[in-house]
Amino acid sequence: TVKTRFAPSPTGFLHVGGARTALYSWLHARNQGGEFVLRIEDTDLERSSQEAIDAIMEGMEWLGLNWEEGPYFQTQRFDRYNQLIDQLLQEGKAYKCYCSKERVDALREQQMANGEKARYDGHCRDGQAAAAEDAPFVVRFRNPAEGTVVFDDHVRGRIEIDNSELDDLIIRRTDGSPTYNFCVVVDDWDMGITQVVRGEDHINNTPRQINIYQALGAPVPEFAHVSMILGDDGAKLSKRHGAVSVMQYRDDGFLPEALLNYLVRLGWSHGDQEIFSREEMVELFTLKAINKSASAFNTEKLLWLNQHYMKSMPVDYVAEQLAWHFNDQGIDVSQGPALVELVPVMAERCNTLKELAASSRYYYEDFAEFDAAAAKKHLRPVAQAPLQLVADKLAALTQWNAEAIHTCIQETAAELELGMGKVGMPLRVAATGAGQSPSLDLTLLLIGQARSVERINKAVE
Ligand code: GLU
Repeated sequence: TVKTRFAPSPTGFLHVGGARTALYSWLHARNQGGEFVLRIEDTDLERSSQEAIDAIMEGMEWLGLNWEEGPYFQTQRFDRYNQLIDQLLQEGKAYKCYCSKERVDALREQQMANGEKARYDGHCRDGQAAAAEDAPFVVRFRNPAEGTVVFDDHVRGRIEIDNSELDDLIIRRTDGSPTYNFCVVVDDWDMGITQVVRGEDHINNTPRQINIYQALGAPVPEFAHVSMILGDDGAKLSKRHGAVSVMQYRDDGFLPEALLNYLVRLGWSHGDQEIFSREEMVELFTLKAINKSASAFNTEKLLWLNQHYMKSMPVDYVAEQLAWHFNDQGIDVSQGPALVELVPVMAERCNTLKELAASSRYYYEDFAEFDAAAAKKHLRPVAQAPLQLVADKLAALTQWNAEAIHTCIQETAAELELGMGKVGMPLRVAATGAGQSPSLDLTLLLIGQARSVERINKAVE
């Protein structure tokens, strides 16, 4: 059965690049009715942290990328790696290397100076004796000297590397700790991974890893190397481009559905379709349709998708996510319209939940001051009469609905022989404090009768 994995190193938060890799890996498993594994590659003790582990898992959960197995931790599997390294040593497929760091560094410098690729020269390959009984050593994998490594990458097609280009990789450091390229092979083998989906920054590791699989007598999985994400300026995506942490997108007011839809299209396509529900992604996803070229991050498109999902997801769901943002902005929504009433009115005017909450404050809180420019323009003395009249009409309504409110405004304009705007704009500023809001009937409807009348009267005083 198909089994894929996401194998982050816990050195920071879950960023959009990692999330997209995780998504593609997850989608392949789901599309194939297979399983998905989360593996934490925490062998770099200095750079790994519990905080990062928590942040990665929180990001995965927020996006709904669930896993059947794990999280596994590489630091808990050292015995297994070392057991296999000892086995390779015994079989002569690995060897102890006593070369000092100085020797290896000097070698590298010399090679670079000659314009050659830096590679270990195999000095200890034929069994160099230890200088002393307790001399420190690393273990190196005995890479085949001849032949070619060939694999068919799902994204990049056939890749062939001559073994003569690969040197003998360190698989255990002098301190006894196994290295990434070895652990990853043992894990993917032990965990029964059938397709390795990962970033293209690992593509140079793959031929070396394939040789290790073969030395271990393990089946070689398939590979799909996903290209990089660039910022809109063409440089590799980084903090400089704004939010890159998945959870920052939540805080900035994005729905997980929007970010997922954005990420799936960022490097994968199905005809010219742009909108994909989670179910559709699962149904339509194939590794083969992942783009080979790097993809540029486009915030405008993400905003557009977010608005689409704010308008089209079930309103209860959007309201639930929105509540967090009101709370975050210190707006108490208990004394005002229900969020399920607010969402349909405001969603089409906003691109994020954060913006929606920020621009809806006047439904819940009385404002101390009018927007200065709007007041200057619309609350002039000539506005007093229409405001007074419309306040009286609104106060007299026995049914508070959009149609009745609309009629009050219309009647006021007709009776005073004014254009609708001469009534509407002062009314808007009086009721909301600002010069912009959804249509007045809906705005006043949501603000409520008593509060609307009170605010208009205040503007008249
Ligand atoms: N731990 C590696 C990383 O975070 C991924 C290794 C892999 O997917 O094979 O870059």
